[in-house]
Amino acid sequence: MDIKGLIRTIPDYPKPGIMFRDVTSLWGDARGFRRVVDELVQPYAGTRIDKVAGIESRGFVIGGAVAHQLSIGFVPVRKKGKLPWKTLAEDYALEYGHDTLEMHVDSVKPGEQVLIVDDLIATGGTVEAAIKLVRRMEGVVVGCAFIVDLPDLGGRKRIEALDVPVFALASYE
Ligand code: 5GP
Repeated sequence: MDIKGLIRTIPDYPKPGIMFRDVTSLWGDARGFRRVVDELVQPYAGTRIDKVAGIESRGFVIGGAVAHQLSIGFVPVRKKGKLPWKTLAEDYALEYGHDTLEMHVDSVKPGEQVLIVDDLIATGGTVEAAIKLVRRMEGVVVGCAFIVDLPDLGGRKRIEALDVPVFALASYE
């Protein structure tokens, strides 16, 4: 079974007209989960990576597994108000309104090379906020890795314009 065959698509969730790509069905499959972790780290063989930054909440699951696979540290990028220590915050636009992501101020050291991981890239707004947070700490974003890319929503181009390479295992036009 390929990766896409294990991702369940749920029409009209969370609202009418949205085709939600549900990666929990992929993670629930032993070979599927092993395979996405193996394939997500592959492009970075030979690249120095000091930390994985995973975006709440599905990015914690896959980012944690990727960090373990690379034998490096994991740092969380969380929604506003969830982290217990001093934070840096970045706002980003949603379809209606805005949201805020935060990281602990000392989670990335100057010069550290960071791989940002999330389950899916759509418009790229979420991961752009995470890139800004890492850069404010003088970290170097070596790439962003996703299970799913929705290229019609333009996220990949938006992030590549920031000089950050984007890697995704599956794409849905
Ligand atoms: P963006 O900021 O790129 O527009 O949206 C990406 C964020 O929304 C990610 O954190 C992702 O988890 C979530 N997201 C948006 N659409 C989907 C979807 O169809 N499936 C999943 N699993 N996550 C989605």
